[in-house]
Amino acid sequence: MLDHVFSPYKIGSVTIPNRLVMSAMITNSTGADHRPNARTLAYYTERAKGGWGLLIHEGIFITPRSRAFEDTLAAWDDMFIDDYKKLLESVHSHGSKMFAQLMHAGRQAKTEMGGEAPSPIPCPAQPMRMPHELTTDEIKDLVRAYGQAARRMKAAGFDGISIHGGHGYLINAMMDLYANKRTDEYGGCFSNRMRFAKELLCEIRKEVGEGFPIGMRISYNNAPGGIRETDLKTIAYYLANETPIDYLDVSIGTRGIAPDSARPMFHQRAWLSKLAGEIKRMINIPVMTVSRIYDPFMADQIIASGDADFILMGRQTLADPDMPKKAMAGEFECIRHCIGCLQGCSGNLMENKPVGCLVNPRTGFEYCDDISEAKIKKHVVVIGGGPAGIEAAHAAAIRGHKVDLYEKTASLGGGFLTAAYPPGKGEFIMYSTWAMNALPKMGVNIHYNTSLTAEEIAALSADKVFIATGGKVLLPPIKGINGGNVVTAEDVLRGRVVPGMKVVIAGGGSVGAETALYEAVKIGKDVTLIEMKGSIAADDNPAVRPYLLSELERFGVKIRVDTKINEITENSVIAQCGGEEIVFPCDNVILALGYTPDSALFDELKKLGVNVEALGDASNVRNALAATREGYEAGLRV
Ligand code: SF4
Repeated sequence: MLDHVFSPYKIGSVTIPNRLVMSAMITNSTGADHRPNARTLAYYTERAKGGWGLLIHEGIFITPRSRAFEDTLAAWDDMFIDDYKKLLESVHSHGSKMFAQLMHAGRQAKTEMGGEAPSPIPCPAQPMRMPHELTTDEIKDLVRAYGQAARRMKAAGFDGISIHGGHGYLINAMMDLYANKRTDEYGGCFSNRMRFAKELLCEIRKEVGEGFPIGMRISYNNAPGGIRETDLKTIAYYLANETPIDYLDVSIGTRGIAPDSARPMFHQRAWLSKLAGEIKRMINIPVMTVSRIYDPFMADQIIASGDADFILMGRQTLADPDMPKKAMAGEFECIRHCIGCLQGCSGNLMENKPVGCLVNPRTGFEYCDDISEAKIKKHVVVIGGGPAGIEAAHAAAIRGHKVDLYEKTASLGGGFLTAAYPPGKGEFIMYSTWAMNALPKMGVNIHYNTSLTAEEIAALSADKVFIATGGKVLLPPIKGINGGNVVTAEDVLRGRVVPGMKVVIAGGGSVGAETALYEAVKIGKDVTLIEMKGSIAADDNPAVRPYLLSELERFGVKIRVDTKINEITENSVIAQCGGEEIVFPCDNVILALGYTPDSALFDELKKLGVNVEALGDASNVRNALAATREGYEAGLRV
């Protein structure tokens, strides 16, 4: 089983032990000194321990002006060489190989000092920041800078070099008529636009010698006049035949003009593999593919089909660093799958925070989370099997405590179970099934269909009790809100009630908007979404929200913003927009007005003198990313 994915394969003179490759992803976690730190070491070591054949180190920048972010790693001076040696020793000790990704962010640099481009055209995502137009001599300096950076990375112990030639960064922009309007030897015809890539690859080969792997990520963007799929094939053909390159990695995306390569759960999986296959059949060097491939069977099938030689996974390495090991051991049900939510990875980066992960709250904290066996083993009771409760039980079990988890329903997952019901959100269910399979294997006793009173919990005499029972539905003082025609979004999504054909959703946050879509896809339903503020789904992840909005439009949901509900009657909602009163006839009103903490059980346990702590929405209603991290931290602290 999985013979293809777990077979070794050579790139240049280096044998990679298997075909699972950790894709380079900016973690935004280094310091202002641009050196790898304890966090970097622990983060990559965890992935090497997990069995990935090859790790591609996140972008390392070739000059100070080439940086994408303020705090990124550097390869622009010999003084940085020794910093990487410890990292490479650690990664190699676990059997993985590691390539250094060398980068120049071009006009997409987010820093004030960055922004160099083929032509004076701002990145569409940063329209007010005009990049510096590189002179011919400056381009030749950058070619030399790439060579020197590669020499340093080889000296540091990296096993190969991966050049970022995609996603609108400098090399990609040079290839792209959309961004390159030069009239010197680096602009105009195809071979001129490829000259920068060719020269820097030759320079790197000169510095690192024959056999040392050099690869490049390439991508298309489908922008008007930009790099189309057909152009990418020509680029790949040229690179494989005219440059000293050992592998190619086929991707998509350019900031501002094409969706990012990291796509949310609504998007299909492995959508770039077909293109990778077409390229692979045209050239005679290894090809890597990437694009929401999270499953070892899918990875194996792609390699078996001949579409790629290696499978790059980015976010899956955040969600479960141990995926290769688990797949090798046949423990498929214990793999924690990335669910494509983009909350902890892209979402954190957009807020200029270090990368994290919703389903793996340890990501980014490997250097400081103490997961050693506790010296004193305690009895931990967790009440509530939602995300915060799951993570508290998980972390306490990691430290060897005796853990009992009580859940009033027949499944774990809490809010994640409900979140899985709207169209396109089904991947949330995989977190629940991971917890239901993995926690018992770690020794957690799960008591399903069990509700305990405060007295019954106190009688367990646990050393620590966590209350993670979630929040309760917010019921503002609206006349008629307790009427028989009023139901909750959760009851609708979970199939506990079937609303009539004409519904009003009260509350246009992401839950309300998703519930509106859930109702609207049912043929013939008339759905109106009412929101008091000026926009809907404002709490949604910016990478996910556009999809939701376009789907609401596609399925004809009527949206009323700046509209306040004053009254709910037996067959209508009476609301106010500006000075106007509007009546919305309906069969049912679906409440999606939010949640409020439910502290009743916590308060009772406190009075009984129990060592108790409230987690997640039971303590303070926030987003799920905060809840999983809070639960995990609390479990480790016991
Ligand atoms: Fe995947 Fe969400 Fe984790 Fe990002 S935060 S790696 S999308 S599960």
